[in-house]
Amino acid sequence: MVRSNHLEETDPAVYAAVQDERRRQEESLGLIASENHVSEAVLEAQGSVLTNKYAEGYPGSRYYGGCEHADTVEQLAIDRAKELFDAEHANVQPHSGTQANMGVYFAMLDPGDRILSLDLTHGGHLSHGHDVNFSGQLYDIEQYGVDPDSGYINYESVAEHATEFDPDLVVSGASAYPREFDYERIHEIASDVDAYHLADIAHVTGLIAAGVHTNPISNADFVTASTHKTIRAGRGGLILTSDEFSEQIDKSIFPGSQGGPLMHNIAGKAVGFQEALTPEFTEYAKQVVANAETLATTFSEHGLSLVSGGTDKHYVLADLRDSHPNVTGSDAEEYLQNVGITVNKNTVPGETRSPFTTSGIRVGTPSLTTRGFTQSEMETVGHAIVDVIEHPEDQDVIEDVSSLVDRLCEEYPIYD
Ligand SMILES: *Cc1c(COP(=O)(O)O)cnc(C)c1O
Repeated sequence: MVRSNHLEETDPAVYAAVQDERRRQEESLGLIASENHVSEAVLEAQGSVLTNKYAEGYPGSRYYGGCEHADTVEQLAIDRAKELFDAEHANVQPHSGTQANMGVYFAMLDPGDRILSLDLTHGGHLSHGHDVNFSGQLYDIEQYGVDPDSGYINYESVAEHATEFDPDLVVSGASAYPREFDYERIHEIASDVDAYHLADIAHVTGLIAAGVHTNPISNADFVTASTHKTIRAGRGGLILTSDEFSEQIDKSIFPGSQGGPLMHNIAGKAVGFQEALTPEFTEYAKQVVANAETLATTFSEHGLSLVSGGTDKHYVLADLRDSHPNVTGSDAEEYLQNVGITVNKNTVPGETRSPFTTSGIRVGTPSLTTRGFTQSEMETVGHAIVDVIEHPEDQDVIEDVSSLVDRLCEEYPIYD
């Protein structure tokens, strides 16, 4: 349990909210694909005195005095990131995955330049060119999609888009595409039109770090990552690149688009990367995928349609339109919330409802796998999810699933 007597005394309102949040995490089953639980060691690093330090610049070349320990921490984070991803250069300062993407765009593109990326309703990310995001406002965006029948990316069609649109940068990577990207193919497509290739691995950072998924590093000019999804290094972003672009990238982050680095967060990244270098983490990442496969099988057995028919990753994307035409993604999210199961509604390819309603749910396994869940528990959870979606008003079902959730949460605590 994370206790802080100082906080309790100084600010009881914030203390109470933190404790309530801790309880919420402990007492519900979190299946949001982008969330995880960091170790106590990462929490300590993030809650450390490093938050007091200004360290504009990079290790060995700072604009402030007294940076020797900040240098040690940042260099550890950099060295471990390079080792994990076999990269020539790592910038660990981006405050988030979105800032990492911004760093690459600002380094390599001018306003009005062209970006080719995956459509948001097919699983892309806001920072890949959505019109409500800076990326869609500053750049000329063209998007590729998935084949409506197979749910897979059609690389022939990506190549055609590239030939017609002549992009300056092609983005691979997604927030809700359950299959691995063919980075080599995207790299060829980008090279053929003289465009850079940015592989945004935000969701699969941990799977790639563990070697469970293919590392795009040799097939991309830039790799951007988040540090809080499938890898447990606390909230933040990361950019990996070759020596060729290292200076441009570093300048683009500081002073280009950020001020002082969040040294406490960088300490969290260093610790989380160290944890990810262990054999235990490789086992964890394998289990994350095995658990998602079990969810896919369980949902399919109950007749739910899955985008692309299954998953290679840490989540499944269930399209409810065929099996439960009257249940929207937001209905399902709400029914499950009521029994202590947290998922998120998600658009599906060919979406017919608004992004606030949606026809699908994204169900992810990183958090529960951190708690110790294996295939048998995931199967039980998968059955329970379908039961609730099918019988949202049935008091017996609600009570049964609620007590199942209580039992599992007690059996698999997050923090002792
Ligand atoms: C989560 C995500 C990001 C980063 O998100 P932040 O919330 O800004 O850290 C970037 N790209 C993709 C594809 C993502 O899924």
